[in-house]
Amino acid sequence: MKAEIIAVGTEILTGQIVNTNAQFLSEKSAELGVDVYFHTAVGDNEERLLSAIDIASKRSDIVLLCGGLGPTEDDLTKQTLAKYLGRQLVFDEQASKRLDEFFATRPQYSRTPNNERQAQIVEGSTPIQNVTGLAVGSLLEVGGVTYIVLPGPPSELKPMVLQNLVPLFVEDNQTLYSRVLRFFGIGESQLVTVLSDLIDNQSDPTLAPYAKTGEVTLRLSTKAKTQEEADIKLDALEAQIMAIKTLEGQELSELHYGYGDDNSLARVAFEMLKEQGKTITAAESLTAGLFQSSLADFSGSSKVFNGGFVTYSIEEKSKMLQIPITDLQEHGVVSSFTAEKMAEQSRLLTDADFGIGLTGVAGPDELEGQPAGTVFIALATRTGVQSIRVVIGGRSRSDVRYIATLYAFNLVRRALLKD
Ligand code: ATP
Repeated sequence: MKAEIIAVGTEILTGQIVNTNAQFLSEKSAELGVDVYFHTAVGDNEERLLSAIDIASKRSDIVLLCGGLGPTEDDLTKQTLAKYLGRQLVFDEQASKRLDEFFATRPQYSRTPNNERQAQIVEGSTPIQNVTGLAVGSLLEVGGVTYIVLPGPPSELKPMVLQNLVPLFVEDNQTLYSRVLRFFGIGESQLVTVLSDLIDNQSDPTLAPYAKTGEVTLRLSTKAKTQEEADIKLDALEAQIMAIKTLEGQELSELHYGYGDDNSLARVAFEMLKEQGKTITAAESLTAGLFQSSLADFSGSSKVFNGGFVTYSIEEKSKMLQIPITDLQEHGVVSSFTAEKMAEQSRLLTDADFGIGLTGVAGPDELEGQPAGTVFIALATRTGVQSIRVVIGGRSRSDVRYIATLYAFNLVRRALLKD
């Protein structure tokens, strides 16, 4: 099934708002196995919206329209769709009742004739109730094309889609189950390349990659009657994915670090530290405390993190970490030697189980002949120290600094896996 999304609103065209609804709708469509071929944004203008609906109707099976359901004159999505289809707008009883209840309990708001428009749908549509707002959504099939009308505010659109629209696309008694696999150490383009056979031939479960800063996630989705039934299908696909090799010959299982939408690499490493009763510290140069700040994001951080160092200048690296300045000058600030010394000294000075050293070139200019994005990351333990050099190319300063902390968390995670 081919779908397309028409986001209605002049604010999108003028750049005042970002069309996040299209992104959300595309993501959910992919989970349902519906291919989205076009995203259109159109202003609050009847003629241009008519033209967008006409083009979409001729090339797509599903046309998702979002925005422009409000009470004001420039909200004209339903009116325009009704005109295009030659139908009337009619009141949906349940949505009208919601308006009654809303205004009955809020005497401070006066109800205007315009508010009534929010309870209207194109004649023949199935209403889709709005659980967080007043504008009713709708679904209507005409001539083999399904038109879905949704409100603009994401706080209304998202719950409407998840609670009331998705169930219309799955068979009776079925639910959509998803599993998110998280990877670090591979870019989206390579992941898509090595998974191209699976992605091209996907039907059930579906497979959708998403790039995030410094990492990639894969969402596996399937329709099933029970969690157990879904798990059988998702486990089989996950096993297939994990056995696939990267272009460098590593199995994807080695780069897979966790599950779930919110389970960041920092959280995974933190939870492992907490579970194993280990403490960690860091001496940070280019990241200037970002690694330590990430640890403090999680509850229970005081069990894992007692304190650490931000050593930006060479003098402070020497003074705070008690490393002879001549040694730092000899090896350079951006070097494996310095990263390792920072990790070792921070660990020794705080008596932690792990010490991280982060030093590098955030950019945009090079430093000590090393290009922007060059970072040395060291991990000291009670038994030794190791370091890696990475080049995080073509990124902003903040991305380089953030991705550097991800490498550090990954070193910790891998060390804890071995323990
Ligand atoms: P309302 O009933 O609040 O008027 P509406 O359905 O008419 O809702 P719009 O007036 O088009 O929606 O947009 C209301 C707000 O919703 C916008 O100011 C914006 O904050 C958000 N919004 C609209 N469209 C989008 C979109 N495509 N992506 C993200 N946010 C959006």
